[in-house]
Amino acid sequence: MSDDQFKNVIAHAKEYGFIFQSSEIYDGLSAVYDYGQNGALLKNNIKAYWWGAMVQMHENIVGIDSAIFMHPTTWKASGHVDAFNDPLIDNKDSKKRYRADVLIEDHVEKIRQKIEKEVAKAAKRFGESFEREQFESTNPRVVGYHEKIRSVMDRFVKSMEAEDLADVKQLIEDEQIKCPVSGSMNWTDVRQFNLMFGTQMGSVAEGASTLYLRPETAQGIFLNYLNVQKTGRMKIPFGIAQIGKAFRNEIVARQFIFRMREFEQMEMQFFVRPGTEMEWYEKWKEKRLAWHNSLGFDSSNYRFHDHEKLAHYANAAADIEFKFPFGFKELEGIHSRTDFDLKQHEEFSGKKLQYFDPELGENYVPYVVETSIGLDRMFLAILSNSLQTEQLEDGSSRTVMNIPAFLAPYKVAVLPLLKKDGLPEKARDVVNALKFDHMVQYDEKDAIGKRYRRQDAAGTPLCVTVDHQTLEDHTLTVRFRDTMKQIRIPMDELNELVAQKVSLSAQFSKL
Ligand code: ATP
Repeated sequence: MSDDQFKNVIAHAKEYGFIFQSSEIYDGLSAVYDYGQNGALLKNNIKAYWWGAMVQMHENIVGIDSAIFMHPTTWKASGHVDAFNDPLIDNKDSKKRYRADVLIEDHVEKIRQKIEKEVAKAAKRFGESFEREQFESTNPRVVGYHEKIRSVMDRFVKSMEAEDLADVKQLIEDEQIKCPVSGSMNWTDVRQFNLMFGTQMGSVAEGASTLYLRPETAQGIFLNYLNVQKTGRMKIPFGIAQIGKAFRNEIVARQFIFRMREFEQMEMQFFVRPGTEMEWYEKWKEKRLAWHNSLGFDSSNYRFHDHEKLAHYANAAADIEFKFPFGFKELEGIHSRTDFDLKQHEEFSGKKLQYFDPELGENYVPYVVETSIGLDRMFLAILSNSLQTEQLEDGSSRTVMNIPAFLAPYKVAVLPLLKKDGLPEKARDVVNALKFDHMVQYDEKDAIGKRYRRQDAAGTPLCVTVDHQTLEDHTLTVRFRDTMKQIRIPMDELNELVAQKVSLSAQFSKL
């Protein structure tokens, strides 16, 4: 997808009431967005699908909703006060600011693309007998690229771990990484920047204490671990899920809702017996990828990316990356967080956060495997993948959003063919028969073809048209968004057809 197509996604999101720039009348607030009338519905449907797949479909997972404000010691214990930093670097010519790690990762991605090109060329040349693995391990040019990637990433990880920021800058210079805007290598030193937003609680300055807006929802789960385990009589292994806002003072935020300063996460912390965490880590990687694939987008849109540089709390971590309009980027993280967080909270609070394992007859601090997905990134993945311009047989084109039907904002649009002859009244009857179960829209303005297109562009999977024949024999025309096919059915069969088409439970049964 090109830049133009991405711009098209952003423009479409605004035009159809999905996403607006926050505080637009005051010229906006950088990297903060509001969800409009269609966006809020789509977002809620994504939440429902995630929550259902995690909480409803697993006997041993429960969900909570913890506060955004937390005791400030939480963030000392979790390591965020000291270590939740990104390395930043400025280009002196363009005055643009970058994350040093992103500059290096983008550089590596370019080398990866060179490998892909070589592979594609060779695959064409060798035809059916092509063996990718063998080619990659023997072709001198590709072997060289792989070595290059390894040496760059090894050096980067080493210098970050040693907090040697001078060497990170040197690496950028040695690799001749240029500012994409100015094209120059006139870089400042690399500095660490803490991403947490601070705020004050209490009315007077002296008595007020500094709080942080949570940068992840996970800590609300860790602090409630024992409450939930005890009151829910949970037995290990078990999970706690949560959907909620998180805040990060991101250094660079230029990619629409991909990187926001206020965003929403859907996280699940899974508590396991120490020593079994890698097994669960692999299991959750698999389960989460299956959840993504269940949406029905092409599976080539997803790939795993193992972390070279692990966060301060993790012993294994992988991202599920999605092919966004601007390339493959992280959509979800699966992390093996060990017992780091619970142990830290034990130490800082002086309270025991242990589990008595009746099978082993011993107490321990559980290990944690987490799955963490950005709701807004998921929204962008769905939006950018669904928006299509189709060429039709009659030479015209149509804009359609093939949003999976169970996620679509409105499920049905009810359209009287004409605004007279009792058709609007009959159409209202249809709306009233459906509205208890589904989001339904009534639309009588403009010619029918135009109304269909409007619904296509908003992603409504079904349109129901009421015409003169409806008054005579109580049949309706149902038009399907994806195929544009129409069928005529008796009115009393409509409810079942809609339910079948947009059913969330049918979707769960695919998992
Ligand atoms: P990145 O490397 O892109 O900054 P991260 O590795 O810091 O992301 P995590 O801390 O693993 O991200 O957060 C879990 C998930 O939360 C991410 O996979 C992503 O979907 C989402 N997320 C993180 N930061 C943002 C943001 N600024 N805006 C929107 N979503 C975000």
